Amino acid sequence: MKTIKDMLMEMREELVLEIARRSKATTEGAQQDIGDIVDSVSEERTRELEMILTDREKKKLLQIDEALERIEDSSYGLCEECDVKIPKARLKVVPFAKYCVECQEKMEREEKYLREESEDGVRKSAAGEGEE
Ligand SMILES: [Zn+2]
Repeated sequence: MKTIKDMLMEMREELVLEIARRSKATTEGAQQDIGDIVDSVSEERTRELEMILTDREKKKLLQIDEALERIEDSSYGLCEECDVKIPKARLKVVPFAKYCVECQEKMEREEKYLREESEDGVRKSAAGEGEE
């Protein structure tokens, strides 16, 4: 059976592969095998790859790395906000989850609220519309 660590390593590899593929497409003539690139993901190489990462990929890679660190220091699987144990089922779906579902939702709500407010100003409530 696969461990969470295996899953994280796989996700990381997939991400790096995707990036390597893109970097290969952009650097014409570089006939390096993707396998070689993945094998030699040194710190230097990682920094190089970071230059062509999108913000979303950067964030994901960071989350994966952080999760791997947490596995190493055994703080993995605990919510960073309320210290509650994150359910295994959730970790299987989101192995790099830092928060329990409740805290995650709370944060997403706050984030969404802040974003909507800054983007569109204060929105009119659509509630109460319709039947008279
Ligand atoms: Zn929590």
